[in-house]
Amino acid sequence: MTTRLFRAHGEFCATHPWEVIVATLTLAACMLTVDQQHPAPPPKPTLRYCAECLQEAEYNAADLIVMTLIRCLAVLYCYYQFCNLEKLGSKYILGIAGLFTVFSSFVFTSTVLNLLWIDVSDLKDALFFFLLLIDLSKAAMLAQSALSASNQEEVKSNIARGMAVLGPTITLDTIVETLVIGVGTLSGVHRLEMLSYFACLSVLVNYIVFMTFYPACLSLILELSRTTNIYGNKQSLIARALKEEDHKSNPVVQRVKLIMSAGLMLVHARSRWPFKEDDVENIRPLVVEQHMTLNRTEDTTLHEYIMKWVTVSADHIVILILLLALVVKFVFFENKEELAEQLRAHISTESVDPGKKDNRFKMPLIKTQSFFLTNNTKEDSACEDKEVQTDIGRLESEFEKLPAGNDVSVKTCRSLEECLKIYNDSNLGGAALSDDEVILLVKNKHIPAYQIEKAVDDPERGVGIRRKILAREGNFSEALTDLPFRNYDYAKVMGACCENVIGYMPVPVGYAGPLNLDGRHVYVPMATTEGCLVASTNRGCRALLDCGVTSRVVSDGMTRGPVVRFPSITKASEAMSWMKCSQNFEAMKQQFDSSSRFARLSKLLIKIAGRHLFVRFEAKTGDAMGMNMVSKGTEMSLKYVQKQFPEMEILSLSGNFCTDKKPAAVNWIEGRGKSVVCEAIIPSEIVKKVLKTSTPALVDVNNSKNMIGSAVAGSIGGFNAHAANIVTAIYIATGQDPAQNIGSSNCMTLMEPWGETGEDLYVSCTMPSIEIGTVGGGTVLPAQSSCLEMLRVKGSHPDCPGENASQLARIVCGTVLAGELSLMAALTAGHLVRSHLRHNRSTTTIPEEFSQNRYHIPPCKDI
Ligand code: NAP
Repeated sequence: MTTRLFRAHGEFCATHPWEVIVATLTLAACMLTVDQQHPAPPPKPTLRYCAECLQEAEYNAADLIVMTLIRCLAVLYCYYQFCNLEKLGSKYILGIAGLFTVFSSFVFTSTVLNLLWIDVSDLKDALFFFLLLIDLSKAAMLAQSALSASNQEEVKSNIARGMAVLGPTITLDTIVETLVIGVGTLSGVHRLEMLSYFACLSVLVNYIVFMTFYPACLSLILELSRTTNIYGNKQSLIARALKEEDHKSNPVVQRVKLIMSAGLMLVHARSRWPFKEDDVENIRPLVVEQHMTLNRTEDTTLHEYIMKWVTVSADHIVILILLLALVVKFVFFENKEELAEQLRAHISTESVDPGKKDNRFKMPLIKTQSFFLTNNTKEDSACEDKEVQTDIGRLESEFEKLPAGNDVSVKTCRSLEECLKIYNDSNLGGAALSDDEVILLVKNKHIPAYQIEKAVDDPERGVGIRRKILAREGNFSEALTDLPFRNYDYAKVMGACCENVIGYMPVPVGYAGPLNLDGRHVYVPMATTEGCLVASTNRGCRALLDCGVTSRVVSDGMTRGPVVRFPSITKASEAMSWMKCSQNFEAMKQQFDSSSRFARLSKLLIKIAGRHLFVRFEAKTGDAMGMNMVSKGTEMSLKYVQKQFPEMEILSLSGNFCTDKKPAAVNWIEGRGKSVVCEAIIPSEIVKKVLKTSTPALVDVNNSKNMIGSAVAGSIGGFNAHAANIVTAIYIATGQDPAQNIGSSNCMTLMEPWGETGEDLYVSCTMPSIEIGTVGGGTVLPAQSSCLEMLRVKGSHPDCPGENASQLARIVCGTVLAGELSLMAALTAGHLVRSHLRHNRSTTTIPEEFSQNRYHIPPCKDI
């Protein structure tokens, strides 16, 4: 309700800027002229009196220190605000916010003071105090929101939206601020009372101006500036800057503010009631007393005058020194401060507290502004991220983590020597350079292109810079725009999963299931771009839901098969016999096992070819897929063998007898990784109802296709319909090495009629070489890791290392069985082409023949 009210109000101000501005200015003018039309005001305890009192009153030491502190604070606060605005890097933001400040702070407040016959000329203390009340952040937020629009209509709606978001918070803040400061008016300390009156007034005037004059000004300025093309086309980025959820105040805070307001109102009511009852008469004695005091001070000695002059001057000198220091800092040292801030921001990304709303709010504005208002080069577009790829909320929160150095478009590039000096400075380093400056160093070979992340000490920024370099070198600025790179934990990738990183590939992930595997219901994540695959596997899971799948891991051993060479076949065969001897094998095993806590050598398979020996080391590798582990162990073992046979040449640690990532009979026959077998008996009703076919038809097609067909094709391990489909989809989803789908997809699918009538279906899948792990490789990446978590096999098994990887292998085999069933059923019933066309080529007209009754075509949901 309140939001709607503020939105409507904001819309009105934005759509009628002239009216609102003119009305506000007219009102201000009226207020300014009011005192000219009336007789002189009756004497009352105005701020003028008080200012005089303040001026004339004795300056004691405590007074002086407090006021000097307030003034210094005010100056520092203004400097801080100025720096914040400066970081926005936009003359528009500065201009708009500055305009607002000037009007609200001085013109309007002094107009109101004038109306109340208050003389502001002497209120130097009050003005300093007032500086502390200025908050430009809200004004800047609204300006950001307005600037994010791409046309005037959007400006208006953005202002309305901004008012809807900021209005309630600002209103409540104003009430709370006024009431809190109002407490000062009850203090009894005259100086503080007067300052508090002034502050309350300023807060209220500020509020009114912000709610009326400012949005109108904003709308008008942007309308007039339309021709200067300050609108960008990245509104989506900036729109996020005012994402409503983030700027809506915390309801708890809101409630606390309300309670506080109610309490303070009571205090005010109670305190002021007797004040009114006693009537204004009470004030007069006070004023008279003050005047008497003033008269008494007339006989102040010369000495006191000098002291007063000295103390007042000291106060001025402190302020002056502070101002000078700030100016010097801004002019000469601001860059360094910014750099230090960048470093701090970078460090704080490690420990960023997402709960700190203020930080979350300010930083995105600063970062997004630079994207929006500067003229991005074509290469820079390679660094844009597409919302569609990533969650907007996360994207925004991640933006705040980007160090300021990411934006180079507003900075000029320093010379190569300067850049090198900064880069080599241990306090600054690459993080203190702009993107263009880093590129300059890369081009001049001072930073290796593959080490940009390390050089700038920020993986994401490093990836962004590499994209820029690539886009320029390859002259394909647009090509990378749809390849996302933000919001990715590159720390887990660097030195482990990928090099020369330019982004990450989002692949859709679906799920099939529940798969009833060994009495447990499993939901299987599958990353694929092949339409039908997940749906089809899901149907297989449905067919298996009641009967369930039983699985067993029958063998476990990752292999590495190096090639070694001897001077002669005599020596080669001698070494072969030596290795086959169990005692020597134990010695080799000892060497192998010492390389890892989990890798355990289980057997050797040795083949001779002339004077070459191929030794296939096989080892259990716990929960890891184990390629690195086995390679390491093999190397150590071989070195031991070499000591016995110094003439042995180790030609290659991998002699293709492993065999890794290539089709090979050895894996099919001997097994590699996990050898898994699973089976299910499906009742005939399910075959008919879910699979829309019959057992004899399925068995017939399975024999013809998967047995005879594969034999005719000379297949090795390919006695299945599409095991590789399921294997690869699960591999991508769970961070396996996808290239290992080659050996891992070896599968024989068998089908038999079952039961007394032979109407039920017995189906089994035998997969002897599932190369899989839940530790190491891509399994550590967050997305992949969460898919493993979904299967409850993430990481190392706490009690029995290797159990998680074995369970995952069983899931793969069980899901393959589901996929086999469904595809075979579709082939048997002739659904394949129809469903693929429907799912893969949704816009394709299905050929007439597939629409005939010749095929039974199930509705989509049955696939
Ligand atoms: P890895 O990450 O290299 O090694 C596994 C690490 O996890 C080891 O340090 C191991 O400790 C530790 N670990 C902790 N808990 C474990 C547990 N429960 N079971 C097993 N290990 C545990 O992984 P990998 O599987 O050996 O190698 C996989 C990577 O090799 C993938 O990135 C893959 O792409 C790549 N790859 C390499 C080759 C190659 O020829 N080298 C070939 C294909 C693929 P320990 O230090 O005590 O062993």
